[in-house]
Amino acid sequence: MSLPPGSTIGILGGGQLGRMMALAAARLGYKCHILDPHEFPCAAEVSAHFTRAKFDDERALQRFAADCDVVTYEFENIPVAPLAVLGDKLMPGRRSLEVAQDRGFEKRFLESCGVPVAPWREVDGEADIIAALEALGSPILLKSRRYGYDGKGQAWVHRPQEAASAWEAIGRQPAVAEAKMSFEAEFSAVLARGRSGETAAFPLTRNHHEGGILRTSTVPAGPEIDAMAGQAIAAAKAIEDALDHVGVLTVEFFACADGPIVNEIAPRVHNSGHWTIEGAHTSQFEQHLRAILGLPLGEPSLVAEGAAMENLIGPDVDRWAAYLAEPGAHLHLYGKGEARPGRKMGHVTRLK
Ligand code: AMP
Repeated sequence: MSLPPGSTIGILGGGQLGRMMALAAARLGYKCHILDPHEFPCAAEVSAHFTRAKFDDERALQRFAADCDVVTYEFENIPVAPLAVLGDKLMPGRRSLEVAQDRGFEKRFLESCGVPVAPWREVDGEADIIAALEALGSPILLKSRRYGYDGKGQAWVHRPQEAASAWEAIGRQPAVAEAKMSFEAEFSAVLARGRSGETAAFPLTRNHHEGGILRTSTVPAGPEIDAMAGQAIAAAKAIEDALDHVGVLTVEFFACADGPIVNEIAPRVHNSGHWTIEGAHTSQFEQHLRAILGLPLGEPSLVAEGAAMENLIGPDVDRWAAYLAEPGAHLHLYGKGEARPGRKMGHVTRLK
């Protein structure tokens, strides 16, 4: 059963992903209701309704669910248990969240799907770090199991003597240790799965990170990455099917000499898919809505020969007037206020 225009879409999280989703919803005649604990989340500015509440406030979630025809999320660090009150209205479901928000569960799940990941170990203290160094070789990358994003909660370890400071650096919390992968490039697959299990994948996107933060995304991704498209898309579909995922899912890969290795998954629209707003026949935001609303999935192919997206991080946003003056540059600003270092303030997309 599909939900017609005029229905209300609930979005857990009020950041820029929610904002761009709400803009896509408005274009199709749907209303959005944002739930977020912050005072003025940027998604609420462009949505019909806003509830300011914590994500684990069950009474607020209950009222929110009663007002919404479907509920989705724009980030994955949300406590899962309280979401039970949302019942079948939550799409993607709780399993997608549960797997993606814990790097340990995620790795085990990916392995169970037959998807290649970097060699890894669980870490619960300094002794495990030393054991992981021995088992995986030097260096290893320590990543907190939960609440890591944009390279936060991560530390490289080269020698056993660094175990104590690395454990301290990630906040002495449960972690995974990964072998250092040598890769030619990083890329992502952004794809949607509809309520009946149908899928549509956007062209693979080449991603360039600086300091753990995505800097640019480029499509086409280049011959060495496109040669891996068959394997990468098959892996991403296997992940979606195993989760019974409904909505957009993003899989981040390393392009290694022996083929694609999955770094991590996001059960949602993704920064590396922002180019689709102008660059694809259907944007990732509209595609996500189509999937969760039970509408036909849209055409995901490029509308031009290529597209390049550049993130505006921190003070980069001060150049907004220059981007506006540049012919063919599509400027997106998220209305987030203070341009703190490392904060994603907007992006620019250029078509080729
Ligand atoms: P993540 O938060 O897992 O996406 O990691 C942030 C960035 O660190 C990635 O985009 C890579 O550039 C780098 N990275 C993560 N894991 C590894 C690894 N196992 N080996 C080498 N580089 C890595």
